[in-house]
Order: sequence, then C-alpha cells, then structure tokens
Amino acid sequence: MTFTTRFAPSPTGPLHLGHAYSALLAQDMAAMAGGKFLLRIEDIDISRSRSEWEQQIYDDLRWLGLSWPEPVLRQSERLPRYRAALDQLTAMGLTYPCRCNRRDIEAAVGAPQEGVPQFGPDGRIYPGTCRSRPMTDAGPNDVIRLNMGKALAATPLRSFIETGKTYEGLHPLDPDQLRQAVGDIILVRRGMGSAYHLSVVVDDADQAISHVVRGEDLFEATQIHVLLQALLGLPTPTYHHHHLIRDDQGKRLAKRDDARAIAKYRAEGVTAQEIRAMVGLGHASPAPSSG
Ligand code: GLU
Repeated sequence: MTFTTRFAPSPTGPLHLGHAYSALLAQDMAAMAGGKFLLRIEDIDISRSRSEWEQQIYDDLRWLGLSWPEPVLRQSERLPRYRAALDQLTAMGLTYPCRCNRRDIEAAVGAPQEGVPQFGPDGRIYPGTCRSRPMTDAGPNDVIRLNMGKALAATPLRSFIETGKTYEGLHPLDPDQLRQAVGDIILVRRGMGSAYHLSVVVDDADQAISHVVRGEDLFEATQIHVLLQALLGLPTPTYHHHHLIRDDQGKRLAKRDDARAIAKYRAEGVTAQEIRAMVGLGHASPAPSSG
C-alpha cells in the first residue's frame, strides 16, 4: 500500500504556524515513506468558506515549498457522494432528523450533574429528544443525526493504530465512551448537505488515505471516524495526531490569530526555511523545495 496522506484545511481564515507544521509534517512523512501528499479543501460550510481564503491557502502552501497533485478535491463539489453515504446509514436504520436548536438541547439536558460529561468531540451531547422521528419526516430545517446506540449494535467494533507520541498505540473503540461522552453526532448540518465527520470519512476512503496526519485536537473525533468507517464498510487509516503549536502564553493558535498567519510572516520577509525552524522541523527537509 502506498503511503498516502493529506492536509485538509477549511478556507475560513488565514493559515497560521500550526497549519504550516501540520502540512509540512505530513509532507515530510510522505516524502520519507516514498508516498504521496494530497491537499483537500474542506469547504462544505458555505456560510464561512471564502474563495479568497482558498486562494491564500494555495499561495501559502506553495510558498512553504509544498506541492500536491491537481485537481484538488473540494468538498463542496462532492455533496452527492456524501448523500450516498448518508443513504447507506439510513438504509441501516441508523439516522433520524432532529429539529432541536441549541436552546432546546440546553433545556432538555437541564442542570449539569457532577461526573456526567456535557460536551464531546461533536459539541454538546445530544439528549435524544428527536430520536424516534422517522427519516420520512425530515424537513429542510432539520439536521440529521446518527443513533449512536443502534450504530454500536450494528457493527463489530474496530480499533485504530495511533503513531503520534501522546496517544501512541492500538486504540479499540470504547462503546461506553461513544454512548455517554459522544452521543448522537450530526451527520448532516442544516443547509449544508453534510457535516465534518461524514465528509472526512468518505473523502479519506475515496482518496485512499493510508495515514491521517493532523493535530491532537482531533484525536477524540477519531473514534467517531473509525465507527463511521466500520458502518460504511470503509478501511481505517493509521492515525498520527501531532502536538499543537502554541503561542507564548501556551494557548493553541486559532484562525483569528493573525499575528501567527503565514501570510504575515511572508510579508515581513521571513523565509520558508525559517518557518520550518520555528515549528521545529528545521532539520528535517527530505525533499528540496521546488519553489
Ligand atoms: N478541516 C479540518 C480543520 O481544518 C481538518 C480535518 C482533518 O484533518 O481531519 O481543522
């Protein structure tokens, strides 16, 4: 199997040093394994994605010395593919439409109880108010959720291999954790035709991604992805969750952190090699930059 990895930014703001680290590390790992590095634009959230940001992603990454096969996969062009995956889960009886907004969910959850998790990798854990609604009832203002209890019963549980330092090892999915601390995740967001977890799993499979390299903030979401892979009959890649680049106060960088934007460093005359050194990849340049 060819080592194939990807960098999958959302064009909702400028790339910062953390993105540079993630993309460079993924490309270094691919180069070291004689494999491939792909770019994917995760732009299903059309209300936040902008073509200017997408263009800046290409410019920043090229400036950093990265290259990738064209055409780039753009999620906004793949809604029918996500729909087919959703239909597969629906045919298994695992989905339902949900009309609850945030306030409905907060009211249904009530006062927080000690020791009971309120938030999981998909946000606030859904109390299940709409769980008995049939898919035939789904309207344009609904989100579509996965019935986690039924999903866990529908497939043998898989494990995944993690090679990143913090969580290195074999991780079997934990049904109790998925039921209590993750819950009925959103498969399709209102007006979006899909949602992150469903799209990422379908795309990683369709792009034959063998190794997912991404930040540790997504480690918890991985169990959702592996469960969806099992349900949809898709392969599970090897995962490598790397540490996050933090600012001087130890806070992780965010898109609005303009001070650490790659474009800003570029404008100030910093070189791509200096960026490498800043993120701790200064001595690991297996492939000379072509531009
Ligand atoms: N689009 C996601 C982000 O920008 C990354 C998803 C992934 O690597 O799986 O955070």
